[in-house]
Amino acid sequence: MSFAASVLTLYPEMFPGALGLSLAGRALEAGTWSLDAIQIRDFATDRHRTVDDTPAGGGAGMVMRADVLAKAIDHASPPGDARPRLLMSPRGKPLTQARVRELAAGPGAVILCGRFEGVDQRLIEARGLEEVSVGDFILSGGEPAALVLLDAVVRLLPGVMGNAVSGEEESFENGLLEHPHYTRPQEFEGRPIPEVLMSGNHKKIAAWRRAESEALTITRRPDLVQNGKIKG
Ligand code: SAH
Repeated sequence: MSFAASVLTLYPEMFPGALGLSLAGRALEAGTWSLDAIQIRDFATDRHRTVDDTPAGGGAGMVMRADVLAKAIDHASPPGDARPRLLMSPRGKPLTQARVRELAAGPGAVILCGRFEGVDQRLIEARGLEEVSVGDFILSGGEPAALVLLDAVVRLLPGVMGNAVSGEEESFENGLLEHPHYTRPQEFEGRPIPEVLMSGNHKKIAAWRRAESEALTITRRPDLVQNGKIKG
């Protein structure tokens, strides 16, 4: 069964975007995953196809209406649809490789992309949306965040990556940041490739890589380390 993504957006033209190219694009063409970009505006009921309104209580910006979004979600994800419903949101739980893996193992995802100040809280509660953040910064809309999430998921789908081993060795897969990489030329601007990598001694190479990974994780991402031990 292929991974089915339904994206609710005011800008369906943004999809598949970057995901129409390279590995993800080929997998999309091959039917390993599918992408349905749904125009939220099609579910507006007034003549002007309004999707947003002024915030209750006052303040700047506009808020996406619960009633219009509910119609769009119910169309994309009728009762019985087993796919998780995600809302891209800077208030959400930061996306992790573990969550990406879970999503990739499932039937797909329904993804709501916010715009303006965000969406009416009642919609989030009434449709049980899981808020997902791609980092502690503010985007102008949820679309680039949805593309980021889907890119991370699609590369894990069976058959998408040529070399499956490289997926398991990436940063975060073992709770560590990845060791540095080198390739030819043997010397670049006076900097040689570390000697151990040229030794042909696979045990020594593995130990060196592990040590580099640990040192990098401890200095750059102490949050991944607990009580001097690597998490995960
Ligand atoms: N007023 C909101 C920000 C709205 S940004 C706040 O302060 O929290 C508009 C939309 O962009 C959001 O509804 C969300 O869908 C998307 N977005 C912005 N930053 C994001 C992030 N870091 N991760 C995921 N989605 C984000």
